[in-house]
Amino acid sequence: MLFSELGLGPDVLRAIEDKGYTQPTPIQEQAIPCVLQRRDVLGCAQTGTGKTASFTLPMIDILASGRARARMPRSLILEPTRELAAQVSESFETYGKYHKLSMALLIGGETFTEQVKKLDRGVDVLIATPGRLIDLFERGNIMLNDIKVFVIDEADRMLDMGFIPDIERIVSKLPKNRQTLFFSATMPPEIRRLADAFLTQPLEISVAPPASPAETVTQALALVHEMDKRKALRHLLQTEDVKNAFIFCNRKRDIAVLQKSLERHGFNVGALHGDMVQSKRTETLERFKQGEITLLVCSDVAARGIDVQGLSHVFNFDVPLTPDDYVHRIGRTGRAGKQGRAFMLATPDDTKLVGAITRLIKREIPMIAIDGLETAEFGEEDSSSRGRGRGRGGRGAKPEARSEGRPPRGGREERAPREEAAPREERAAREERPAREERPMREDRPVREERQPRESLAAAESRRSNEPRRDRDRDRRRRRDDDDDDVPVIGFGDHMPAFMLRSARPRPSSEASTDPSQEG
Ligand code: AMP
Repeated sequence: MLFSELGLGPDVLRAIEDKGYTQPTPIQEQAIPCVLQRRDVLGCAQTGTGKTASFTLPMIDILASGRARARMPRSLILEPTRELAAQVSESFETYGKYHKLSMALLIGGETFTEQVKKLDRGVDVLIATPGRLIDLFERGNIMLNDIKVFVIDEADRMLDMGFIPDIERIVSKLPKNRQTLFFSATMPPEIRRLADAFLTQPLEISVAPPASPAETVTQALALVHEMDKRKALRHLLQTEDVKNAFIFCNRKRDIAVLQKSLERHGFNVGALHGDMVQSKRTETLERFKQGEITLLVCSDVAARGIDVQGLSHVFNFDVPLTPDDYVHRIGRTGRAGKQGRAFMLATPDDTKLVGAITRLIKREIPMIAIDGLETAEFGEEDSSSRGRGRGRGGRGAKPEARSEGRPPRGGREERAPREEAAPREERAAREERPAREERPMREDRPVREERQPRESLAAAESRRSNEPRRDRDRDRRRRRDDDDDDVPVIGFGDHMPAFMLRSARPRPSSEASTDPSQEG
C-alpha cells in the first residue's frame, strides 16, 4: 500500500516524501483513513510502530481548514512526558511544513509567559503533559470547549505515572462531540475501562510490537561485585565499538556520581534525569542526538519512547527494578532494523531481578566475563544453576561467542508477576533509605503494584467534590510537582550525604576518604 492511497492531502504527501518514507506502517495504514473519516480510534501499539504519524498526518489535514480562536485550541494531544510531547511536536513540524498550523507545547519546566502568549494568539494543535495543562486551565489561560480532535497517547504510561485522575478531569472539560484517538502499548483492565468511557464506537487497531529487541539487539550480562561496576563499565566502553550509548541507573544520585567518574576517565558524557530543569534536559538530549555527547547516563525518563536514531549501545549500569523497564531500555537500540548491543551489569543482590527479566523475555541473557575482574556468583534464587560459571566462556570474549548463563528457575514460565520482580521491601532496601525519606524518581516509580482498585469516573468525581478543597489542592499540587519534576536541586537537595548527619569528631589522619565520586 502507498501513502497516496490513504486519502491524505497533497501537501502532507509531499512532506512524507521529503522525509523519505515510502510505505505506511501497519498502524498508519489502518488508522489514517479512519481518522480522516472522523471516527474514534483505539490503538494498541507501542512506540516504534509509526504510531505518532498515524495520528499527526490525518490531523494536519483535518485541521487545515478552519481557524483557531484565542485561548481555544482546536486539538489536544496529551503525552506522559515532556520528551514525548516534544517528539510529537517535531512530528507536526516535519509533516506540517507545507501548512500554516499553529502549535503550542505545554510542558512543565518551561516558563508560563511564552506558553500563555502562544495560547492567546490561538493554536490549532496543543500538545501537553497533564499537570501543566491543568495549571493553565485553572489560571483561566485556556478553554477546552473548542477541541475537535483529542489524542491520549501512551495511556498505560499515564496510568503508571498516576495521571489518570488528571486526564479524567481534562476529559470532563472537553466537548462531547469531539473525535478521540486513544493509544496504549498495553490494554490492562483500567485502560480498557477508560477507553470505554472516552470513546464512541471506536475502530480498534492492534499492531504487533516492532521487531522485538531479541531479534535486533545482542544482549549480554556481566555478573560482578558492586565495587567493580564502574571498572566493568569502563572496560566495556573501551572494548566495545561504542558510537553512542545510554547508560541507565536506577537512582538519580548514582547518575551524577557515575557521570563525574566517567568524565574523570576522559569519556564524553552527559546526564539526563527528571530532576534537571527542562531547558537543560532538552539541550542535553539535543546535543546527544547531534553527536556532541557520546554517552548519556540516564534514568528511565530516557527509556520510553525516546527516539534517537542509530543508538549503538545500551548499558544497564543497574539492573532495572521491573522487567518491563529492561525491555524498554534495551529497545532504545536496535531500532528501525539496525543492530544494537545491550549490556547489563548485575551483582549477586540482583539475582531475583535478573530472573524476572529472563522469564519475561523468555530467553537467557548470555553471560560474559570482564577482563581483570572476578565474576561474581548469583545468590539464593539460583543456587542450582548459576554462579558456578566463574569466568565462564573466557575473558573478554564477545557476547555472542559466550556460553549462556541459565536464568534462575529456567525460562519456561509465563510472564512473572510484577511483585515478584522486586517486592516493595526489596526496592526500599535497594534505595538504601526509608521509603519516605526520598521521593523516588517519577519515571522510575513502579506505581502499579501500589495501586488501589480504580473507581469509576462518576464515583471519583463525586468523591472529589466531597473532599475538602484544601486536600484536593494539595494532592493536585503534589501530582503537578511530580509531573513538572523540575525543581532545581539546591545544595545537597534531598540527598543529604550520611557524613553530614554524623556528629563531628576528630578522626585520625590515616582514615581514608569515602566519597563515592572519588572512587574509580
Ligand atoms: P513512532 O512509533 O511514532 O515513535 O515512530 C518510530 C520511528 O519510525 C520514528 O523514527 C519515525 O520517524 C519512523 N517512521 C514513522 N513512520 C514511518 C514510515 N512510514 N516509514 C518509515 N519510518 C517511519
